[in-house]
Amino acid sequence: MVAVEHHLMHRIFILGPQGSGKGTQARKLSEFLGIPHLSMGQLLREEAERGGELGDKIRGYVDHGVLVPDEVAKLVLVKRLEAPDARAGYILDGFPRNRAQYDGFQEFDQPTAVVVISISRETSMKRLLKRAEIEGRVDDTPEVIAKRLDTYERETLPIIDEYRERGIVRDVDGEADIEEVAKRIQKLFVL
Ligand code: AMP
Repeated sequence: MVAVEHHLMHRIFILGPQGSGKGTQARKLSEFLGIPHLSMGQLLREEAERGGELGDKIRGYVDHGVLVPDEVAKLVLVKRLEAPDARAGYILDGFPRNRAQYDGFQEFDQPTAVVVISISRETSMKRLLKRAEIEGRVDDTPEVIAKRLDTYERETLPIIDEYRERGIVRDVDGEADIEEVAKRIQKLFVL
């Protein structure tokens, strides 16, 4: 398969609930299209490691698994988007997560496509509990996972609907295995 539309700058957002594999799929699509993968969580962790006033502030939130303030997330993202490699396009996962972030990004730019990976609550719960078992995380309890899924449904799904009305949403069933989902996503971006 040959990726097309190289002349067109891809600005692809990948969204989906916890456990949908959006980070993994964003990385795979990034390799396929040859444009950088930006992970909002990763960008914030890097900024926290850098320290300084902004980094220290971010670390306080990230370490507790709480969303950093929307303005801070936007600041870090916009700074990264201004780097030269992102001028050829990019794939972004983990942003926007709520209305304020959606509105904040609108002022800056527009995505060319929003890939939404959907899985059932049951699959999400099953995958996260398995991951928690492997990584030995104590904060991935069924109660906390349920709360995060509630937040996704309450805050992120409505903004996906906004993108849907603009005709740029591409839905992908995320129940299949990683390679199959990756193939389905690639097909959205080839002739
Ligand atoms: P993740 O790598 O997606 O699990 O994100 C790790 C952490 O980064 C989260 O617990 C939040 O503290 C922060 N984070 C990630 N994405 C966002 C976002 N869009 N807005 C605010 N904070 C975020």
